[in-house]
Amino acid sequence: MLSTRGSNLLGVGTYNQALILDLIRRSPEGMSRVELAEKTGLSPQTLTNVTRRLVAEGFITEAGKVGSGPGKPRTMLALEPSARYALGVHLDPAVTTIVLLDLAGRIAQHREIHPTGVSSAQQLAAIGEVANTLVSSLPDPGRVLGVGIAAPGPLDTSAGLLLNPPLLPEWSGTRLRDELGRLTRLPALLEKDVIAAMVGELWVAPNGELGDALFFYYGAGAGVGLSLANTPLRGATSNAGDIAHLIVDPDGPPCECGARGCLGVSLEPATLLSDAGLDSAPDPDGRDPRTALDALCLRALEGEPLPAAALTRAAERLARALVQLDNLLDLTDAVLGGPVWARLSPFLRPAVATALAHTGGVTAVRPLVLHESLLGTDVAAVGAACLVLDGAFTARPSHLLITD
Ligand SMILES: [Zn+2]
Repeated sequence: MLSTRGSNLLGVGTYNQALILDLIRRSPEGMSRVELAEKTGLSPQTLTNVTRRLVAEGFITEAGKVGSGPGKPRTMLALEPSARYALGVHLDPAVTTIVLLDLAGRIAQHREIHPTGVSSAQQLAAIGEVANTLVSSLPDPGRVLGVGIAAPGPLDTSAGLLLNPPLLPEWSGTRLRDELGRLTRLPALLEKDVIAAMVGELWVAPNGELGDALFFYYGAGAGVGLSLANTPLRGATSNAGDIAHLIVDPDGPPCECGARGCLGVSLEPATLLSDAGLDSAPDPDGRDPRTALDALCLRALEGEPLPAAALTRAAERLARALVQLDNLLDLTDAVLGGPVWARLSPFLRPAVATALAHTGGVTAVRPLVLHESLLGTDVAAVGAACLVLDGAFTARPSHLLITD
């Protein structure tokens, strides 16, 4: 069991090596030692030592020379994406996503499991089986560093278990981290889904920067991942980001907490579908509303009054939540994503932008910039795998809770 900040799974050692790898990763065309020296301030001798070791261990390669005119041509150093991999698993009520990420953060393999009518123990066994299949598809399975798991909160991250996730009650008390570690024989870590999603977005953001931002995750439930000064905000127990009971409409639907118009219940797919006069139970479990949501969005875009009104109302409610979060935290950016968002965004994205401009009570002194997630519906699974790579690979400090 390893519980550390800024640990280095690669075992390549130093902060300097992580720093150099991170810079090279972010430069698809590669970087020369001269550029690396300029960016890091490291001495030429130190740089030579660090890069020699990274080349020897296969993490980077010499990718030809560039330069014309006077002076020596520069040798470009490029990342070797297949040097290491990480598995990412996203446990979600509607669909479990499993990805195999290479060292460049690209998806090498992708699978989905739809949990229809099977127990959590059977689902867990299926996840382990798929994960092992992905690992054994590699020419060298030993290159997989570990498995990151993103799951709905609340979680006990120190024990690696799910507490009582409202939409996955049968998983309550499951020691997911240790179980998946045992099934895959890999180091494993567990992170709340919205935090993993934010980590994934930070990984792919230009220059790794999102500044002070929120990731609004819209799936079967709604939550936010937060990044302050480019660092994911976890909170005291790594459960930050639950906004389900933020009241966004005093006349909204009743919530199990006793209030009306909480964000969670107001944005639930079933609420939207029933507001729009559409069937909300398209599959036997009523958990996978994707087809129905596609139909809702299409009808709204075609101008059908009830579906359009249902989505406009949802946009206004979401805008109120974004304004409250922005007022509280003084943010710059809001990234919008998750499986339900991805389906509704053709209508919802412009509607949220319009609603934001008309929402009262704004105290922020600059407008919140809206972005679409760069990782689509895989964002939490990719983020979970990035957490594994993060500890290995970036100079950015991060919490890791690893067991093996
Ligand atoms: Zn509530």
